[in-house]
Amino acid sequence: MSKKVLIVYAHESPASFNAAAKDAAVAALTAQGCTVEVSDLYAMKFKAAATTEDITGGVKDAENFCYAKEIKLASEEGRLADDIKKEQEKLKEADLVIFQLTGVNIKMTIKPVFQFPMYWSSVPAIMKGWMDRVLGFAYAQEKRYSEGIFKDKKAMLSFTTDCPESVYSDTGINGDINVTLWPLQNGILNYCGFQVFAPQIFWDPATGSPESRSSMLEGWRRRLQNLCVEASVYFAPLDYFDKEKGFLLKPEVKEKYASKECGLTVGIHMGKPLPANSQTKAGV
Ligand SMILES: Cc1cc2nc3c(=O)[nH]c(=O)nc-3n(C[C@H](O)[C@H](O)[C@H](O)COP(=O)(O)OP(=O)(O)OC[C@H]3O[C@@H](n4cnc5c(N)ncnc54)[C@H](O)[C@@H]3O)c2cc1C
Repeated sequence: MSKKVLIVYAHESPASFNAAAKDAAVAALTAQGCTVEVSDLYAMKFKAAATTEDITGGVKDAENFCYAKEIKLASEEGRLADDIKKEQEKLKEADLVIFQLTGVNIKMTIKPVFQFPMYWSSVPAIMKGWMDRVLGFAYAQEKRYSEGIFKDKKAMLSFTTDCPESVYSDTGINGDINVTLWPLQNGILNYCGFQVFAPQIFWDPATGSPESRSSMLEGWRRRLQNLCVEASVYFAPLDYFDKEKGFLLKPEVKEKYASKECGLTVGIHMGKPLPANSQTKAGV
């Protein structure tokens, strides 16, 4: 089996638990025959802010600068800043590779794994900057969600917290982790078309014993053995929505789900209880 995996990694310290989780992933995936590339954002001093400097050769409309439009155009015309181009190459390259799995030729798809400590219930600014700038060209209303630019690829979040799971439960003070993850997993990854694997969450590694940390890393290594055959988190497909009617759920879909106890997803909940664990478990 030969696959390309990109780990987008954001931690300031090589002695951190995040570094250990990243290193465990590199070792486990390499041992399986994968080619693993790491974008170490702090080491790269990756520029986080989306600005006019991301476009070479001058912007089209400096007076009314619109990043989404300009970055898309610059991408089409090959006028992106070098650091963005390099990261996009890592994403694009993999589409052309073929790999063999259980005797069947399958088009290889790169899997970006985002490894980070949770900051303000989200990703650190440097990683959000990577998403804004490297994925910026993929923010396209005509090609999004299940028709998104990266629809043949998979992605996942792998992160640490400084609190136990209960704090991010549906009665915990930080609120349900499934709600927390919705903007990242749906609003960014699913929007761009990625099939999203359930996140790898390391709950509060700083508080536990050395043994509990070792066992977290061991669990991660075990998961990585079968990651490529895991099912993805469920999102409503694009054709559930009516383009002519402001992308609202089509009446027939609403009817289909009318008698169900829960909504479709965390975001498309139809005024019903949220489906439990829908952002943290596959296929729920
Ligand atoms: C601005 C900001 C906002 C934040 N917002 C949130 C938030 O909203 N929600 C939240 O939950 N947290 C939040 N945090 C806390 C942050 O998420 C945690 O501090 C972070 O996730 C801990 O991960 P770490 O990799 O830095 O752990 P570390 O502190 O680096 O590591 C934890 C322990 O693991 C040990 N370790 C390192 N390597 C290994 C190894 N190979 N094997 C075994 N043990 C090892 C370390 O020595 C240490 O004892 C925030 C922090 C900041 C700065």
